[in-house]
Amino acid sequence: MTFIPHVIDGEEVESLDGARFESVDPWTRAPWAEVALGDARDAERAVTAARRAFDTGPWPRMGYAERGKILHRLADLIEARGGELALADTTDMGKPISDATAMDVPRSAHNLRFFADHARMSVGDLLPMDTGHHAYTRFEPAGVVVAIAPWNFPLMLETWKVAPALAWGNCVVLKPAEDTPASAHILGRLANEAGLPPGVLNVVQGYGPESAGQALTEDARVDRITFTGESGTGRAVSRAAAANLTPVSLELGGKGANLVFDDADLERAVRWSIQAVFSNAGQVCLAGSRLFVQRGIFHAFLDAFTAAADAMVAGDPKDPSTKLGPLSSEAHFNKVREYVEGAVGEGATIVTGGVGDGWVIRPTILTGASATARVRCEEIFGPVVVVDAFDSEDEAVAAANNTPYGLNAMLFTENLSRAHRVAAALRAGTVWTNCFFIRDLRAPFGGVGDSGVGREGGNFSREFFTEPKAVVMEITPAPRA
Ligand code: NDP
Repeated sequence: MTFIPHVIDGEEVESLDGARFESVDPWTRAPWAEVALGDARDAERAVTAARRAFDTGPWPRMGYAERGKILHRLADLIEARGGELALADTTDMGKPISDATAMDVPRSAHNLRFFADHARMSVGDLLPMDTGHHAYTRFEPAGVVVAIAPWNFPLMLETWKVAPALAWGNCVVLKPAEDTPASAHILGRLANEAGLPPGVLNVVQGYGPESAGQALTEDARVDRITFTGESGTGRAVSRAAAANLTPVSLELGGKGANLVFDDADLERAVRWSIQAVFSNAGQVCLAGSRLFVQRGIFHAFLDAFTAAADAMVAGDPKDPSTKLGPLSSEAHFNKVREYVEGAVGEGATIVTGGVGDGWVIRPTILTGASATARVRCEEIFGPVVVVDAFDSEDEAVAAANNTPYGLNAMLFTENLSRAHRVAAALRAGTVWTNCFFIRDLRAPFGGVGDSGVGREGGNFSREFFTEPKAVVMEITPAPRA
């Protein structure tokens, strides 16, 4: 069976106590790899390596251009090994190979290229002062960054964190989710091959709670923690970080609203709404899992939406024609199945969907769920959507904002004023109008309320991964002639 070690200080290593755990392929439902099971001592070893690399190594002292060259080389290697990386994520968590190949891998390479160039071309403030001084800003690397990632877009979200941290000169310890160790390990290996000095990017495998992940968040030698995962885990990470006053960036869960107005382009609204809630089997923080459709087109929309959902090819994620794979693990499958099976008792009608082969849940559309139904209020993280009709714009906005989450929202309308009005009124970190998931990496990304703290992307990542320093200088007046 394949063995997946840690990557610490430039070496591929076992855990100090030799412990291992198994990674299960959710389609075959059989173990496919053994993984080094890190604990607090392995986390400590990785932080020590990153600390030494930062305090005495070349990485933070290199120019942006030289660091950028190495990061571009890493992006080249990601592209060259794209097949291996895509297969790693597909085997670990059941993502369709077509998505992993067409989206996750290219976006991961792009993350590295974008942040390498962004750091190199970044400009700071230069402030001529009335007092005969001038002030300017230096963006200095923060130090050791701990990056803790979820399993739904493994490589893509890991590089989203690692790339800006490295580009700004930090040294990193990455902890992938226990369900998705493989692509992070390949990333660590490729980093060595690309020429990152030892200790600059370390990958520690293992569990989060009461294990390697938690130990990383409690280590006082860490300067930044960037975390993506559930809101409950985010609270635990935040509490641990508070003890050392370590700044944290939290990208957490969501319960995205999707508003489709009477005047929407129906074909476009259906296409994006399908994508918004059923891609990656709904295991997307940004999922448009609460769909509100204006009454005038409710039935026409629902018919077309249901037909498109039923047409999605579900099954073996390694088959290039598959659009919907199994859920990532047995525990997660059982959780989503309970939501679907409990929905009828909460007043809902199942328009289509339900349990498929193995750990597959077919695209599931619910109507009539009660106001307090769990399927309406809680993040399901599966291919399940609750659909409601609305009459007025105000009613739709109030319904959309009726959630403790605030990661993102979508709206579909051909009315320009309405588009801007509603985008402004929605309580969310990102609003997509007539589209979904389109990203400019310069834009802020993050959520309000239970969806997170802080923003990453472009200058927002710069602010988080650096210590901006103000330098003030007096300009001595010229001596009088
Ligand atoms: P979890 O919160 O369960 O886990 C995320 C990571 O944190 C994993 O690596 C996990 O390790 C680790 N972890 C768990 N407990 C601790 C702890 N006490 N201290 C430190 N680390 C810990 O999330 P999932 O992996 O289940 O991912 C799904 C969630 O992520 C959803 O809520 C989703 O909405 C959210 N998400 C948010 C995004 C955003 O950008 N806002 C994007 C993608 C997902 P282990 O695997 O061992 O549990």
